Amino acid sequence: MRLITKCLLIVFLTISCNKRKNLEVNLYSQRHYAVDQKQYENFEKLTGIKVNVVKANADELIERLKNEGEKSPADLFITVDAGKLFRAKNLNLLQKINSETIKKNVDDVFMDKDGFWTPITYRARILVYSKERVKKEDLSTYQDLIDIKWRNRILVRSSSNAYNQALMSSIVANRGVEDAKRWSSDLVKNFARDPKGSDRDQVKAIAAGQGDVAIVNSYYIGLLLSSEKEEELAAGNAVSVFFPNQGENESGSHINISGIGLAKHSPNKANAIKLMEYLTSEEAQKVYVNNSFEYPVNSMVEPSEIVKNWGEFRPDSLDLNLLGKYRNDAILVFDKTGWK
Ligand code: FE
Repeated sequence: MRLITKCLLIVFLTISCNKRKNLEVNLYSQRHYAVDQKQYENFEKLTGIKVNVVKANADELIERLKNEGEKSPADLFITVDAGKLFRAKNLNLLQKINSETIKKNVDDVFMDKDGFWTPITYRARILVYSKERVKKEDLSTYQDLIDIKWRNRILVRSSSNAYNQALMSSIVANRGVEDAKRWSSDLVKNFARDPKGSDRDQVKAIAAGQGDVAIVNSYYIGLLLSSEKEEELAAGNAVSVFFPNQGENESGSHINISGIGLAKHSPNKANAIKLMEYLTSEEAQKVYVNNSFEYPVNSMVEPSEIVKNWGEFRPDSLDLNLLGKYRNDAILVFDKTGWK
């Protein structure tokens, strides 16, 4: 009798232990925004599934996935660049996602046509300009920034940054590598200073009078305008937002997604899909737009009030996988044209 009781107890403990072990999902994430923790806490409250996060840059995470192989604990790979998801897919580190809920949640135009990743937000790489020293009518396209009138006035971060690499990939895809080279070498001549700092730092530099036009990701302006730090608020208020390339024959403004790939050897696949479904739901999309000021990929949700105030724009309709396909060309363009 006692032996049976013992056996039953062991069976019970094993089952409950396994159950608890399975109530988790492991993320490898490149994202660096405060809103993410909030999303994961909400998801855990709703489902009981604990979200564990490893943060690093995308290439480091890709290396880690490669090295760990079948033993990798990663369920999901989250990036702020479709190009890195393209790379992970090509390295055979992802598997196809099959979820009707995600298909229903996410606007078709942002989806990976091959089904290996889902976007969770998108962002535009826009121009911001000094309210004091630049007239809106003087701005038009990324290409126009090489005009002599912008000599020593353009601010942008380093070419090692994925946001700039994605922008240059889009220019290579749209206009060819030779045109991209010409654009880049002339743009460098118009730089107000050697590239340094973050997107936010470029806006602060405009506020400090160090340059007049900056190329930055849209949501950073929302973050500055809603900041509690006086210096950041002042920087946000010193600039206006401009969406380039809106003319009829132009490409539209460059956008990129923040997105999630399902890891090839995901040990908690069901939980991973649940989290992707949650992050693309109306509820979670509202949390993104109102905290990180990114654009929603679920068309049932509107951008935040701050972002809506900038007006609507036409995004570049390029297949976002091309941002990965042309990445090496983009890096070559930077190297050949002296964009540090
Ligand atoms: Fe960012």
